Amino acid sequence: MAKESQKNKNTGARSRQRPALALLLVVLIAAAFFIMSDVPFVKSARDSLMQKLGYEAVDQQSGNENGGSGSSGGKTAEWDITADIDPAALPEYNGNYYVKVSGGIPVFPDDVYERAGLIKDGDEWKTKGNLFGTVDSNKLTAYEYYGSLDDMGRCTYAYGLLGEETMPQDGQERGDISSVHPSGWAKAQNWERCHLIAWALSAENANPSNLVTGTHYLNYDSMRPLEEEVEHYIWNTGNHVLYYVKPWFSGDELVARGVQMTAWSVEDKGEGISFNVYCFNVTPGAEIDYRTGIVTTEEQAAQDARVYVINTRSGVFHYPTCDGVKEMSEHNKKTVTATRTELTSQGYTPCGACEP
Ligand SMILES: [Zn+2]
Repeated sequence: MAKESQKNKNTGARSRQRPALALLLVVLIAAAFFIMSDVPFVKSARDSLMQKLGYEAVDQQSGNENGGSGSSGGKTAEWDITADIDPAALPEYNGNYYVKVSGGIPVFPDDVYERAGLIKDGDEWKTKGNLFGTVDSNKLTAYEYYGSLDDMGRCTYAYGLLGEETMPQDGQERGDISSVHPSGWAKAQNWERCHLIAWALSAENANPSNLVTGTHYLNYDSMRPLEEEVEHYIWNTGNHVLYYVKPWFSGDELVARGVQMTAWSVEDKGEGISFNVYCFNVTPGAEIDYRTGIVTTEEQAAQDARVYVINTRSGVFHYPTCDGVKEMSEHNKKTVTATRTELTSQGYTPCGACEP
């Protein structure tokens, strides 16, 4: 009797497992469809989810055949990122003003096109009532959209369809932005308030959703040539440019490591403007604490007293962690707390390996 009831139990469990397994399979297939589908409805649902997670635009593969030529301004990115940006492994500064994202080909969430009055027609975007892939300037809606700050008070993204409509009007004066203290600004040293969408393109002044803590290098050397390229293009053609800018933060840091800029001219399908780049928020030669916004320049570092190990025989000084220290005989080793400047003025030479 006991045996039999045991058996029944087992059978019951097995027959309940099958529907559970089938349900799991259905969920997995649905999830795969959601992740990979190109069906517009599914894609836009996915994109809006990705947007909420902070991965908009860059989660998408380049799908635009009319991407056009690369960008100009700044140094050419010699090595480029063909993959999308990985928030856990942001590009390392390599001496260039910026590096390409997705091969430099601009891609936007569908939302960005649709708000501009564009509708999808096969692989193309066109304005309503027009033939395949053609765009009527008069049917476009210029707009700007600024993502709200995240729960750490950091800028999220800004995008829009830029044109003469969004630019400062004749006689419009640039306003004061000093009231805005972007994340990482509090302990600022030589920081600049860096517009995500430049004033010249958006006429946006003290909008906290549009200003990040940036270096002069980011603001003027990296981003500005690209902004000017767009500005001149709009003035010269009267055309419109889809534009998407996103600061990238590493973990819970307050200062962005870099700013992604994506732009594509609409009427000529990227013929005039087409780029997708990651601009570095650095000052070459300075060390930046991106958690706090504290910047240490080379000169300041030289003024900070710290522990060095001097080889009294060769007159070379090292950081204590240098391999040269391990190889040094105890007899010649002298540990001091001093500034770099003090040591060099006493005639000591910095080690070529650990570069103190
Ligand atoms: Zn050394």
